[in-house]
This record gives sequence, C-alpha cells and structure tokens, in this order.
Amino acid sequence: MKEESKMTRRQVVAGLGTTLAAAAVVPAFAGNGLNLKPADGVKISDPTTLHPKPPFKSQPQPWPGLQSKMDPVPDCGETSYKGSGRLMGRKALITGGDSGMGRAAAIAYAREGADVAINYYPTEEQDAQEVIALIKKEGRKAIAIPGDLRSEEFCKSLVQKAIAGLGGLDIIVNNAGRQQSINSIVDVTTEEFDSTMKTNIYAPFWIIREALPHLPAGSAIIGTTSEQAYDPSPDLYAYAQTKAATMNYVKSLAKQLGPKGIRVNGVAPGPIWTALQISGGAQPEKQQMFGSWTMLGRPGQPAELASIYVQLAAADASFASGQVYGSSGGVGQP
Ligand code: NAD
Ligand code: MG
Repeated sequence: MKEESKMTRRQVVAGLGTTLAAAAVVPAFAGNGLNLKPADGVKISDPTTLHPKPPFKSQPQPWPGLQSKMDPVPDCGETSYKGSGRLMGRKALITGGDSGMGRAAAIAYAREGADVAINYYPTEEQDAQEVIALIKKEGRKAIAIPGDLRSEEFCKSLVQKAIAGLGGLDIIVNNAGRQQSINSIVDVTTEEFDSTMKTNIYAPFWIIREALPHLPAGSAIIGTTSEQAYDPSPDLYAYAQTKAATMNYVKSLAKQLGPKGIRVNGVAPGPIWTALQISGGAQPEKQQMFGSWTMLGRPGQPAELASIYVQLAAADASFASGQVYGSSGGVGQP
C-alpha cells in the first residue's frame, strides 16, 4: 500500500486533539468514534496498479536466495508500514524473518511496538542484517539467530536464545518454508523430500513444543500455510502436502491450546513475489509470468500481508483461533 494512501491509527490519534477542538465548531462524523471529518479520509488505491506486474526477468538464484538481489526487490513494507502500538511490549520470534512474508511481519511487529527475534539460514545474513537494522531503528530489541531449522537441536536452542534475548516470548510466527518445484515424483529424492518435511513440518513442531512451557496466556502462534494446502500444483508434490499439514496443525493446536488461552492461527498466501520463487520454488516460465493468473494480474507483495500477521497476533483478535486468513488476489482458497 502506498504511503500516502492510508491513514494510520498513529496519525489519527496525533490529529485527535485538533479534530476534537474543531468538532466544537465544525459538524463532524461522530459515528466512527474518532470525530473524523470527511476530509480526514483515507485515499483509496487501485490494487491492480499498486505493485509490479509480470513479465519479470528470469533471475534464478541458488537456494535459499537473497531478496536484496531480486528485480524488482520484494516490498516488505520498509517505507510504507506505519504502526499504531498494537503490539506494544510484545515479544516475537519469527522464522524466515530475513525476507518475504517473515520480513514484512518483523518490520510491522517492530513498528507496532514488539521486540523481535528473527531466524534465517546462515547464508541469508545480508538480508537479515537489513531487517535487524530496521527493527533497531524503531527502538525495539532485535535478535538475530541464524541456523538450520532442519535440526531438532538447533530449533530447541533457537527458542531458548529467543527467550533469553527478548526476556520472554508471546508470539511465534512459524513462517520459514522450503519449496522446490519438481515436475515428477520420480525425481524427488529422499533427501529433498526429507528437507521439505523437516523445514515445513518438523521445525514448527520442535519450536512450539520447546516454547510452550514459556508461553503465557494471551500468546499467539501463527503458521504460514498456503493456497497450496487446498489446491496443490502438480510440481509441488512435497511442498503442497506440508502446507495442508500446516493448515491442519493450526486447527488441532487451536483446540488443544485454547483452554490455556493460547491462540493458533494461519495465513494462507497466494502467489507472492519472494526469494522462495526464484530459488527453485517455481519453474522459470512460471516465475517470469508470476501472479499473472490472479484477478489483479500480478503477484502479491509481502507488505500486503503484514497487517494480517499483526491482526492475528494482536490482543484484540482474542476470539480468533483455529482460523486461516487468506490473501491471494481473488483466486485460491481459503
Ligand atoms: P522467502 O524465501 O523470502 O522466505 C522463506 C524463508 O525460509 C527463507 O528466507 C529462509 O530464511 C527460511 N528457511 C528455509 N529453509 C530454512 C532452513 N532449513 N533453515 C532456516 N531457515 C530456512 O519466501 P516467502 O515466500 O516469504 O516464504 C515464507 C513462507 O510463505 C513460507 O512458509 C512459504 O511456504 C509461504 N508461502 C509463500 C508463497 C509465495 O508465493 N511466496 C505462497 C504461499 C505460502
Ligand atoms: Mg530469505
């Protein structure tokens, strides 16, 4: 969303004094509880022209890729996301926080007042350090914890380091994911299948199990699932079934942890312009026309999902648990 196109709560609150003073003389729209005047309204933007459209140039990178080397560079809200204190004082661990949706969530969380620990694969240090700098710029704690999520020992130490660095934990975003496009099951090696399962299914299990004794009531767990959970592509045999599993664990854990006051929800993106897609996630021809099949004629940008991660973590979403919120440009499910 363009900077000028939305009015944030902070702007609204900042302008409240003036608005209230003016309200004595100018009739205001009282129904919104903020006495806003029509002139205070948000500008709306056409979502079909808001972000880059295909064709994109072919730009393969070795896994896991660096988004800073992509053209166009994915928009994770670096210049656009405005916070309004929705997560003030919260403590979040986000896997895959260096790039894509995890980075968008990390930036938004920090701007909403949370301290944030991010995990990423060690070769992604460059992207990760940009995020760490952005979190620090908000005056929040930023903890960088590189490591391979396919290791149970690392996942356990990740949780312990996050708790030690943040002084506690009340938001976990299991967002990291492995997606490799392989046309035939015959060519899926056991190692590749295992890597996909370890990253996408085992790591959230190991992380949540380790963290649970430390999570207070009111905590939120969020998993990144996918439209692939509901409508799998033929070349994503291994990946798509892990996203169905993610959708499923969100619903079972929501039932298990609800009585403890811990909410568990999922985000199901459609095609989003990220490093995952250019580092083996999509065949070159699909990558070049990425997102052309959505009703907006373009892929989503990670920034367009940031507010969903904020919403699911925020205390005022206290009745949302076991939900999967989609964002897919008019196609896909949920
Ligand atoms: P991304 O490449 O920017 O982020 C994925 C991250 O996963 C990487 O940055 C990396 O840090 C992490 N990761 C992968 N394997 C790891 C490992 N072994 N150890 C440590 N970290 C590891 O791409 P993204 O698209 O933002 O992906 C985020 C999530 O969104 C993933 O779960 C993905 O499946 C999901 N998703 C993406 C799309 C899309 O179109 N991009 C659509 C639906 C769902
Ligand atoms: Mg990355």
